[in-house]
Amino acid sequence: MLTSSMTEGIVLLNNRGRILSMNHAAAKLLGTGRYSGDALSASGAPGLGAFIQRAEKGERSEMVLSLDGRSYQAEASPVVSGGKVSGIVLLLLDVTEKEKVEQLRREFTANVSHELKTPLQTISGSAELMAEGMVRAEDIPRFSRRIYGEAKRMIRLVEDILRLSHLDEGAADMKWDQVDLYALAEDTAESLFAEAKAAKVALHLSGEPAFVFGVRQLLQGIIYNLCDNAIKYNRPGGSVFLKVREEAEEVSLTVEDTGIGILAEHQERIFERFYRVDKSHSKEIGGTGLGLSIVKHAVKLHQAKLELSSVPGEGTKITIQFPKDRKDKGSCSTENIV
Ligand code: ADP
Repeated sequence: MLTSSMTEGIVLLNNRGRILSMNHAAAKLLGTGRYSGDALSASGAPGLGAFIQRAEKGERSEMVLSLDGRSYQAEASPVVSGGKVSGIVLLLLDVTEKEKVEQLRREFTANVSHELKTPLQTISGSAELMAEGMVRAEDIPRFSRRIYGEAKRMIRLVEDILRLSHLDEGAADMKWDQVDLYALAEDTAESLFAEAKAAKVALHLSGEPAFVFGVRQLLQGIIYNLCDNAIKYNRPGGSVFLKVREEAEEVSLTVEDTGIGILAEHQERIFERFYRVDKSHSKEIGGTGLGLSIVKHAVKLHQAKLELSSVPGEGTKITIQFPKDRKDKGSCSTENIV
């Protein structure tokens, strides 16, 4: 049957809204055997009764249908013969994932606006007071530093947002190469040395040269963000251990710290955009809340696996396993990463 290979669900209803038959995809979308006879109209999905009635009256209509926690783009078309409606064809397309992604994108836009507005308000408020001559001469350096700090925070934020949107678009223009992860870890550790010293955290690197097929800039971003966090969420006198190892099937990168750790309920959520366990602490130490979502995105693009284990008060360990001996980037969908 032609309809059996379709991904859209097709349901045939008689002119009283009773199900006559459905194709394989519809049975799969709706759950085989659960919706037969009048069960579809009786399912209680809001708006469904009126939707089918419109088709019974000869009107074609569309709606987004919610059934059992999933969303379907539904289209009902009357079948007219001899001037009378003899049946209804219902087309169903599962749009649950698409809706979820769209919802998250809407939330992201709202978050971006909020995150940008806060430093802008501080900048504009401080600058206004200075312009009006309401700041004493001895307070001007403090006000200027505040403006400078907030402007820097905005730059970091905009840079991270641009990185994410570039990744969202699949980073198709980036150059793929065999990259020595150890050499990259060495460079990155060096660039973080001053930050680690200022935080009184010792940064240790160990391992051996190990090549992965990837985008140098993104791999560096992964190492940088993980080490930066391991330093930021540490305590004076603490340590960060950065390891690169070549194993039988993969190359592994581990960043382990002796820092504050992460409670179990936050462990998955910290990879969401703008999610921070302690928002004010993250802001104080210059966080944007986007670092780990960039890491997650870049890891997926490299078809690598990420594992996190953390004990509050003791520390956090993040391991990323890159597939070994890859020669091409293959196909990797990034559309569901949010
Ligand atoms: P931020 O810019 O806030 O650091 P990230 O996306 O890098 O944003 O991290 C999200 C949140 O995850 C942080 O605000 C922090 O609460 C938590 N976090 C990340 N890494 C660590 C770590 N190594 N130890 C403890 N908490 C961490």
